Amino acid sequence: MEYRLIAETYSKIEGTTKRLEMTDYLVKLLKKTPSKIIDKVVYLTQGKLYADYMGVELGLAEKLAMKAIAKATGLEEKRLGDTLQKLGDLGLVAEEATKKKKQTSLFAFEKKEKLTVEKVYENFEKIARSSGQRSQERKINLLAELLNLAEGIEARYIIRTIEGKLRLGIADMTILDALSIAFGGSKELRKEIERAYNIHPDLGFIAKKLAEEGMEGVRDIKIQIGVPIRAMLAERLPSLEEILEKMGGKAAFEYKYDGMRIQAHVGKEKTYLYSRRLENLTGQFPDVVKAINEAFKGENGIFDGEAVPVDINTGELLPFQMVSHRRGRKYDIEKAMEEIPVVLFTFDVLYLNGENMTVKSYPERRKALEEWIEETNRVKFAHRIVSDNIDKIKRFFNKAIEDGCEGLVAKNIGEESIYRAGAREFLWIKYKRDYRAEMADTTDLVVVGAFAGKGKRKGTYGALLMAAYNPDGDRFETVCKLGSGFTDEQLANLPKMFEGYRIEKKHPRVWSEIEADYWFIPKIVLEIRGAEITLSPTHTCARDVIEKESGLAIRFPRFTGRWRTDKSPEEATTTKELVEMYRNQVKKIT
Ligand code: ATP
Repeated sequence: MEYRLIAETYSKIEGTTKRLEMTDYLVKLLKKTPSKIIDKVVYLTQGKLYADYMGVELGLAEKLAMKAIAKATGLEEKRLGDTLQKLGDLGLVAEEATKKKKQTSLFAFEKKEKLTVEKVYENFEKIARSSGQRSQERKINLLAELLNLAEGIEARYIIRTIEGKLRLGIADMTILDALSIAFGGSKELRKEIERAYNIHPDLGFIAKKLAEEGMEGVRDIKIQIGVPIRAMLAERLPSLEEILEKMGGKAAFEYKYDGMRIQAHVGKEKTYLYSRRLENLTGQFPDVVKAINEAFKGENGIFDGEAVPVDINTGELLPFQMVSHRRGRKYDIEKAMEEIPVVLFTFDVLYLNGENMTVKSYPERRKALEEWIEETNRVKFAHRIVSDNIDKIKRFFNKAIEDGCEGLVAKNIGEESIYRAGAREFLWIKYKRDYRAEMADTTDLVVVGAFAGKGKRKGTYGALLMAAYNPDGDRFETVCKLGSGFTDEQLANLPKMFEGYRIEKKHPRVWSEIEADYWFIPKIVLEIRGAEITLSPTHTCARDVIEKESGLAIRFPRFTGRWRTDKSPEEATTTKELVEMYRNQVKKIT
């Protein structure tokens, strides 16, 4: 098939902003395309060579593309550079250069070989896969070969595509429409084609199935290990009351972890990880691959979950930014794994031992998940309750916030609660806080206990249990676990420092519902900075003052480095002061 056909369609599409017209041009193109190469035409139209999850990227540097144009047209690079300044688009430069060449060529009358889609795709693929020594030269030659055969607008789109700048604005949904019309005469097939697309988001593959096997082939498309499924998404409502009502009075409420969504495909031979946008993340999280392989007891399975960085010593979840550092980091992965371990909180199973689980209800899926995954240090189930009691749900929400989560995701538990790939509907409803507070001041807290260290902190304390002073009851009430802000030396010295204060049991003036590994006489005061003060069902500080059965906690606490040796424990920040601070926090709308 001639590449000119594609180039002409692109040019028409560029000339319109109407989706209907765009679809129409695509339909015409698809109808003229032989089934053998329809997948390639679909990929090229979206400026790619494969479905996104394959991870093959186009994107040749402008400098190299310019060299290829110079080579193919005989024009000097300097001159091309000047034209680029003027036109601002290398595609247009290539278009003009090939036109000029035709005018000046002695052999213009000679009929040259026609540029085909097959040839363009083949050379693009070679360019994309070319690496190592002398690959630059090879890339230039491959592109120059295409430009030699290209004329006018063909050159324009070849350059834009190879630079990764095609940007015709054709969304996946437009292609789904076009396929339905091209092969069914109307949009009637769209729904069924979309079903296939949701579980196998590869438009080239679907187009080819349609062209070669018709709708039978499309209906036959099944979930496959190694092909990501489009993620199910959540709707939102402004209050827990409304959510409970919408869910029919009872629902499952899961922690909404603030990390990175990961879809894990565990196959017999290989395990793959995909992001929410279906990019392949396998290479970036070998620890998650290992963890899910160890935790899963079946033959094969596809799991949905959220990867969250954790402080292995406090067990607390860390801010999401810590995972994003690991994303895209190709080097030092080993080091990153050690520095920022992540826990995968699984919340769904979409495929299990050869069976499609997406058609089953949420309670059935959750049961299967718990049956086939064994919780480990690195793989856990999303924390949840199933409840119809609004007070209990609200407390669970506070606990989620205290534990470093964004809020809750309510999940329908009725028979209709299937996994709707690619859909944002009310089967899942998220509820986040509408503000994030900021702690304006530091606090001075008393060390009342400690936890044994893990990993790098083995042999010393992993974290300290900190409390505020309540003069009314003359007692110390816990407010956070503190594990950050210490130097390695300070950490190593902690057990020695606290030796003199160690006691067998919790001190009678300490009110704690957390079991520490070591208890101390309340004596040492440290200065702590935190991200914000939240309501807490775990900590005892100011329990019941602001809300029934809730205390206060400091989120993401950090030692400032200041030992307040000048303060007695009774001079530490009081629970009353923390209540004031909680009330006066600057609340930022998120
Ligand atoms: P947001 O920015 O709120 O995370 P989103 O558009 O990425 O929104 P939504 O479907 O609206 O996604 O919200 C659900 C998101 O929350 C999921 O994409 C997932 O990453 C995350 N999440 C965390 N915990 C859960 C859970 N238990 N169940 C479902 N999703 C969860």
